[in-house]
Amino acid sequence: VGAGAGGGGTRFDLEKETELRFEVEAGEKVHLELLTGLAEVFGSELNRNKKYTFGPGSKIAVFTWQGCSVSLSGKTEVAYISKDTPMLLYLNAHTALEQMRRQAERDNERGPRVMVVGPTDVGKSTVCRLLLSYAVRLGRRPTLVDLDVGQSGVSVPGTMSALCIERPADVEEGYSVQAPLVYHFGSTTPGTNIKLYNKLTSCLAEVFSQRCEENRKASVGGCIINTCGWVKGSGYQALVHCASAFQVDVVLVLDQERLYNELKRDLPHFVRVVLLPKSGGVVERSKDCRRESRDEKIREYFYGFRSALFFPHAFDVRFSDVRIYKIGAPSIPDSCLPLGMSQDDTQLKLVPVTPGRDLTHHVLSVSCADEGEEGAGGVRRGVLESPVCGFIVVTNVDTQAQVMTVLSPAPRPLPRHTLLIMDIRFIDLK
Ligand code: ADP
Repeated sequence: VGAGAGGGGTRFDLEKETELRFEVEAGEKVHLELLTGLAEVFGSELNRNKKYTFGPGSKIAVFTWQGCSVSLSGKTEVAYISKDTPMLLYLNAHTALEQMRRQAERDNERGPRVMVVGPTDVGKSTVCRLLLSYAVRLGRRPTLVDLDVGQSGVSVPGTMSALCIERPADVEEGYSVQAPLVYHFGSTTPGTNIKLYNKLTSCLAEVFSQRCEENRKASVGGCIINTCGWVKGSGYQALVHCASAFQVDVVLVLDQERLYNELKRDLPHFVRVVLLPKSGGVVERSKDCRRESRDEKIREYFYGFRSALFFPHAFDVRFSDVRIYKIGAPSIPDSCLPLGMSQDDTQLKLVPVTPGRDLTHHVLSVSCADEGEEGAGGVRRGVLESPVCGFIVVTNVDTQAQVMTVLSPAPRPLPRHTLLIMDIRFIDLK
């Protein structure tokens, strides 16, 4: 560790295979610059003499395979060098996956489908990002499937998505999201509607498999599936369901031997289940911290990020011009269900909602579902299984005038008229 100045900051000299970990204080920014050598942040290489800026609450590791020196300026909560990282094991996992891709290429088969699992805060998203960046740096085109409805790396919270990765994640901004495939789930834990969660997992698997049939590169690239940290009961069953829906070949279990043993027991024998340690650098996030990062993700959707600022629009939408639904009716006792209906049906039911004041601040998904396909009894098919084309936030509801005011990334009119309510709320302070 070196003191002394490098561009006005503190200089750190890193030996090979070590990493500099730092956290940015609330309300602060930290600048990072690579002075000599080679280094990467979660698999994305740093450019020499470029200033990278990280916002409040960022938790970053600068890793070097060869050795490097960097300069850090701004207020960090902690900043230290660690020699004890699992990066070599993660690299081995990547190498094994790359061998599978090569074999797939040779034998005209499909590439590895990988599921990353573990409890919350073990670095699942980080491992996914690392594996994707390493693969794409070798010219592969892997697909990220993000099933973490609490902290999606691709879209706003409450969604499940897939994204074809064409370049390593941006060091500061993460994935560049061009044309992700996004489904509406509606809340931040799978437990609120596990039937829907499993159904959407199957939808994503189907679309991905179709794409693999049409696109050889996507097929060879395979996929990396990021999952939720809920690994017990129905959460565990959802992992088993996902493994079967995607026909995964490899499961990487982070940090939990019990989960590893359960999956080894319950998944078919040809699935390779591998236990990997978590990095000591992974920081546990408080409930507040999670809520803040969810809020930030929604704010970014509407207002953009440093290099690409957006200017959202506010306009009125008449109740009569849209159809608003919530997915899932409250469960009722079996004895009260109409003949031939099961609880499953109620969880996947589209329930029309009349807008009221309580809709204020809710995030709504704009469904891509075909319109005017009204079936018997007003229950429209296909909305659940349709991706969404965007999101709006209700900022005001006027029941007298029968209009609501919304915040939208695009000017009026809304591209579609089927809206799905999320449990998630966003208060626009701008
Ligand atoms: P999970 O997906 O399991 O909830 P994440 O991958 O999101 O966990 O990691 C949790 C937090 O820890 C993130 O803010 C991430 O940036 C940070 N983090 C991950 N690995 C490291 C590391 N080696 N050093 C410092 N921070 C890290």
